Amino acid sequence: MAVDPLIELDGVNKWYGDLHVLQNIDLTVANGEVVVVVGPSGSGKSTLCRTINRLETIQSGAIRLDGRPLPEEGRALARLRADVGMVFQSFNLFAHKTVLQNVSLAPVKVRRRTRDEADRRSLELLDRVGLASHASTYPAQLSGGQQQRVAIARALAMEPRALLFDEPTSALDPEMINEVLEVMRRLALDGMTMVVVTHEMGFARASADRVVFMADGRLVEDRTPEEFFTAPRSDRAKDFLSKIL
Ligand code: ADP
Ligand code: MG
Repeated sequence: MAVDPLIELDGVNKWYGDLHVLQNIDLTVANGEVVVVVGPSGSGKSTLCRTINRLETIQSGAIRLDGRPLPEEGRALARLRADVGMVFQSFNLFAHKTVLQNVSLAPVKVRRRTRDEADRRSLELLDRVGLASHASTYPAQLSGGQQQRVAIARALAMEPRALLFDEPTSALDPEMINEVLEVMRRLALDGMTMVVVTHEMGFARASADRVVFMADGRLVEDRTPEEFFTAPRSDRAKDFLSKIL
């Protein structure tokens, strides 16, 4: 059992119509922990991420953040989405706003920062992802890797308790993958609580505290990277690893 749990899923079930997409999921993510979620396409990884910041509702079970059930609506829900940031495969930046505006918009609206405060902090974060010199450019002028780093800075600007990454490098050209993974590696080292859906097994080996393997809506394995990669228990995981490694 994890010490100091931040995110807890307790017997979570979700259906899309007849499709039982999350089946009795139990998962605990401790403060500061990095959990990498792997598994074949369609196994429920994105749905799992989306339920954690309540982009999707569940039909049974419980999800808690810091011991409290997820809020259902209103300002509390907006705060939850700020507390648990999400980075998507498609970067979803605002095309008509500058890089700096993309990062500082939400802190002003949701966290009630002053514009100056938010801009100052956003510049620091852009510096942290290596993009301070691009603050006044527009997303279309950036490469995919740079846009994804802006998206990470934007999530960090909310001062989240945890970050969820759903295949953050899957839409990138190969030469841009590392610059994004490097930012994520550093976040992990800095102690950010992270749930990362990825096919980047190098990242999982180097940065994950635990690897969770999903198949057909079930959480099949929850192990250290060392255990998972060297001695997967289930046939599903063995089969999966034989295809990607
Ligand atoms: P993964 O991210 O592991 O590829 P997903 O969580 O996206 O898997 O999807 C799990 C299953 O749920 C898939 O069979 C997918 O087709 C289905 N699914 C996902 N989103 C929806 C939706 N909004 N409505 C109906 N089915 C969905
Ligand atoms: Mg997915």
